[in-house]
Order: sequence, then structure tokens, then C-alpha cells
Amino acid sequence: MASHDVVVVGGGISGLSLAWRAAQDGKRVLLLEKAGRLGGCLHSERTAGGYWFELGAHTAYNSYGHFLDVAVGAGVAGLVRERGPARARIGLLTHGEYRWLTPPRVLLQLNWLEAAVHLPVGLLASKEGQTVYSRFSRLLGRGNYDRVLGPFLSAVPSQRADGFPLSGPGSLFKKRPRRKEFVRSFGFDGGLQVVCDAAAKTNGVTVETGVGVEAVAKRGDGFAVTTADGRTVEAPVLALAIPPGVAAALLRPRFGELASHLSSIGSVTVESLGVVLPRGKAWMPECAFVVPVDDQFFSCVTRDPFPDPEQRAFAFHFRPGLTRAERLQRALEVLKVTEADLLHVAERSRTLPSPALGHGAIVADLDHHLAGGRLMLTGNYFDGLAIEDCVSRSFAEWARVAAAGT
Ligand SMILES: Cc1cc2nc3c(=O)[nH]c(=O)nc-3n(C[C@H](O)[C@H](O)[C@H](O)COP(=O)(O)OP(=O)(O)OC[C@H]3O[C@@H](n4cnc5c(N)ncnc54)[C@H](O)[C@@H]3O)c2cc1C
Repeated sequence: MASHDVVVVGGGISGLSLAWRAAQDGKRVLLLEKAGRLGGCLHSERTAGGYWFELGAHTAYNSYGHFLDVAVGAGVAGLVRERGPARARIGLLTHGEYRWLTPPRVLLQLNWLEAAVHLPVGLLASKEGQTVYSRFSRLLGRGNYDRVLGPFLSAVPSQRADGFPLSGPGSLFKKRPRRKEFVRSFGFDGGLQVVCDAAAKTNGVTVETGVGVEAVAKRGDGFAVTTADGRTVEAPVLALAIPPGVAAALLRPRFGELASHLSSIGSVTVESLGVVLPRGKAWMPECAFVVPVDDQFFSCVTRDPFPDPEQRAFAFHFRPGLTRAERLQRALEVLKVTEADLLHVAERSRTLPSPALGHGAIVADLDHHLAGGRLMLTGNYFDGLAIEDCVSRSFAEWARVAAAGT
């Protein structure tokens, strides 16, 4: 008999929230994570001196109701910290020149003559079947999109957001109810990763890190997964909480149709470089982030919303295709420091989905093939990339399989 009710592959927020949710229903869950640390894109880099900064996701909102359920249930809601005043200042970097803006002042960067020409027709145009680019360039003009809106929208998913669907699955724009008992935008003492770390300690959840899964197969009424260290683990229920390309490769031999739908989801690599500086060496005014127009990086996110008296940290999220030396060089230029000034450097490469028009149909096909079975697929390639989209999907997948009497 299998010693686990559920095996979860992938220890990012999707996998951990699913494991946490299944354990709430009394299930014994084994979670296998390939990397040496948990969290995936929730990567709160910790330095030897006890300082931390976000090398991946950085902000949660009180509209993240399911994510908050996990934080509360895992006992870390007391670590929620409101983002401080620096959250209201944003840097716009255009050809070497910085402008420091509050969010409403970003709108003042628009060419309002161009906008006035486009707005009347744009407002009447249907939103149906539109991409981010087609909608906003029609609404405000191409110049305004390329010069102002495009860079800000691309900073959100760390890639050009032009082809993202405007609405439906994969969209960046979601309206969710807010949980007013929590502050509007926040992080956690110790970083967002504390939610992953706490979820991993849930009763009933066993976590193994440094264990990559290399194959999955049907075994009787359930599943067998083979790990890179040569073990085979069996369970009646299997969840894959890994990027779609990785899931496709695992499923291809035995679940060809699912694999082919997963393969049609585009993806990009995001190369992140984070550095810590002594406060006295940092020239920038405190701000939430810097967004450049047409540069090697999509955003430079700071830890300034959680200020520290001694240190400041900056996480640059770069386009793919640069060398490590090129990324470091660009970060040093922006920060106006030398390598000798850096107290800590951290790097991380990860894959993010790039949903395009038609993404909703791919998700519908995936759900059609999953219906009635005990294989779960979760991740940031269903509803959207946001943490809340991941947790919502995990909860919905668990509800589907649990309703079938697992
Ligand atoms: C730079 C950046 C900034 C972001 N900022 C925000 C933000 O501020 N707010 C927000 O809401 N969202 C943000 N996001 C998006 C959000 O963080 C991610 O979409 C989400 O965390 C993805 O979680 P996941 O668990 O689905 O995938 P991942 O975090 O990618 O986790 C997948 C895990 O699977 C593991 N894995 C892969 N292959 C295998 C295998 N074969 N066997 C075992 N394990 C495997 C990986 O090591 C990884 O740990 C950001 C993302 C990035 C990259």
C-alpha cells in the first residue's frame, strides 16, 4: 500500500498550497522539490547577517484571499507587514534620465494630445479578443504605449506583456474581493517565502528538497513517480506543480494529449540578479522599483518598502540572453557603484509562462482531459501568474479531486 495519499511534484507556492490544502482534509502528502530550497519564484534571499530581500515575487495584496488562508492556517499571519511609504515612489528610467513619480503622476507622462486623438475610438472598441498591446495602444496611442504604459506593464510579468490576453485566463488584470482585515499591500517579516516554509511544516506534509522527478506513470488505480536518485514513489493522487514545459516532458510518454496542450504554452526565462549595498553607498531616493524604457532589464525592485537602517537591496529582473558579466555590469551602472561596494550578490534563473490570445482554450482543453481523473495540474499558467492565481488553482484542483471521493 502507498504510504502517501498524495504526491506533489514542485515546491513553489502552487505545490505547497496544494499540499497544505490536502493536509487540511487529513491526507498524508509527500512533496518533492528539485531545488535545494523551497519557494520557487517566492525567493526571499537571506544574508549571513540576517538581512533579507526578495529575489522573486515581492508584493501581496489583501485581494489574495486564498494565499492569506494559507498564511493564516500555517501560522504566519502575524508576520504580515504593510509596505511602507517608499511603495508610493516609482522610478522611470529613459535613456539615462530618471524621473521619480507617484503612481498618479505616471499618467502625467502620457502625451495627452495623442491620447485625446485615440480615446474616443478606443473607448468604443470591444475588449473581446484583445491583447494588452492592441487594447492600450488603441486607447492611448502607440507612442504612449511604447514610452510609458508598455514598460510598466512589462515590469509586472518580467517580459514584454504586449501579447498577453487582455481578459480571461492568463490576463494580468483581475478583480478579486479584498479582505479588509488585512492591509492593502504587504510582505512578510523575513520575506514572502516564510509562507512556503511554514506550509511545508504542516502536519501530514512531508517535504523532500533536492529531489527532482524524472518520470511519471499510471500504476494500478494511482500513479508512480521516479526520482532522479532512482526511487519510485506511488500514490493514488498525483499533482504536478511545475512549469508547463517540464510537466509536458514528464507526461509525454503516457499522457500524450495533456503533454501536447501543455507544450503549446509559451514561456520565457527571467534572469534575476540581486545585490545588497551599505545604505551610504546607494544614491537612489527610496522607491518601490525602477522601470526602464527599452533596457536590458524589465525592472529593478528595491526592499525600500521595508526599510533597514544599514542596508538597501535591489533585485534586477533581466531579459534572457545576457552573460552574467553583462547583467552585473548593468546593475553596477544603474546603482553607480563598483563590485567592491556590494555586500551580497544573489542570482536566480526561472521560467515564467507567456500566455497569448487563445490561452483560455488551452486551459479548457487541459481541464477537459483532467476531468474525472486523479491527476492534478496546477501552477501559474492557468488563471494567471500572480501568487493568488496559483493558490486559487491549487485549491480548485484539490476540490475537484476531493469531490470525487479521494
Ligand atoms: C521576478 C518575479 C517577480 C514576481 N513578482 C510577483 C509579485 O510581486 N506578486 C505576485 O503575485 N506574483 C509575482 N510573481 C509571480 C509569482 O511569483 C509566480 O507566478 C509564482 O510564485 C509561481 O509559483 P509556482 O509554484 O506555480 O511555480 P514556481 O515558483 O516556478 O515553482 C515550481 C517549482 O517546481 C520545481 N521543479 C521544477 N521541475 C521539477 C521536477 N522535475 N521535480 C521536482 N521539482 C521540480 C522548481 O524547482 C520550483 O521550485 C513574480 C515572479 C517573478 C519571477
